[in-house]
Amino acid sequence: MLQGKTAVVTGSTSGIGLGIAKALAAQGANIVLNGFGDVEGPKAEIAALGVQVSYHGADMSKPAEIEAMVQHAHTTFGSLDILVNNAGIQHVARVENFPVEKWDAIIAINMSSAFHATRLALPGMLAKNWGRIINVASVHGLVGSAEKSAYVAAKHGVVGLTKVTALENATTGVTCNAICPGWVLTPLVQKQVDAKATAQGISNQDATKQLLGEKEPSLQFTTPEELGALAVFFCSPAGNNVRGVAWNMDGGWAAQ
Ligand code: NAD
Repeated sequence: MLQGKTAVVTGSTSGIGLGIAKALAAQGANIVLNGFGDVEGPKAEIAALGVQVSYHGADMSKPAEIEAMVQHAHTTFGSLDILVNNAGIQHVARVENFPVEKWDAIIAINMSSAFHATRLALPGMLAKNWGRIINVASVHGLVGSAEKSAYVAAKHGVVGLTKVTALENATTGVTCNAICPGWVLTPLVQKQVDAKATAQGISNQDATKQLLGEKEPSLQFTTPEELGALAVFFCSPAGNNVRGVAWNMDGGWAAQ
């Protein structure tokens, strides 16, 4: 379905981004990977799906590097058709104790990077009258949780950016939507499970149960594969007129 298209997925060396990149590659899209840590493993996983894969190491807190990544997609594959703004970090602390540099980093990486990548990718998409912008927000783009001020502010911002981008392009072939996962067991969440286990002196298994029980009625993690399938739907012809939604996949979290 996506043969000949190019997808840039930010923060795709791990977790949800890698899951979405694999789902898009399975539909035939060439992939630009981005993110830190091991690159060769994710690259090989994508190449095994029979598409072309390239890597750009842009730091999402740096607008000039984001510009270079968008340019890289155009020079390597000739277009940037699907943009998945996924890179993100977390830090947990009460507002009065929240380190200012962590606030700035979360706003830059989790929110402003989506603005920069979107503004830079849009002209190419509009020229072809086809494009898909998918913002990986969070259930925290819809509701709040204590000790996550920067994250919740950034994710609510991403949902707002999604709506405005969708509206500004509503008469074109370019759509913009957000995905709002509940808990997904990636390194980002594993750190929160570990912190809970240490703080309370309980096992990792009990900390996991507690984490899910507090917020997610299904008591199950959403998987990167399920989120990848939703991204593929947004890219399909059935998604042509899906514009500006913030679609939660959260085991009922936001329904409470
Ligand atoms: P992860 O830690 O597994 O992956 C994060 C990715 O972002 C990695 O590839 C990392 O290298 C990259 N990254 C971090 N800082 C970067 C930077 N400055 N520049 C470029 N890349 C950078 O985390 P994840 O859980 O897969 O999170 C992916 C997205 O999903 C994030 O936006 C996160 O907020 C969101 N999310 C996660 C969950 C969850 O439960 N895991 C729930 C809702 C939303």
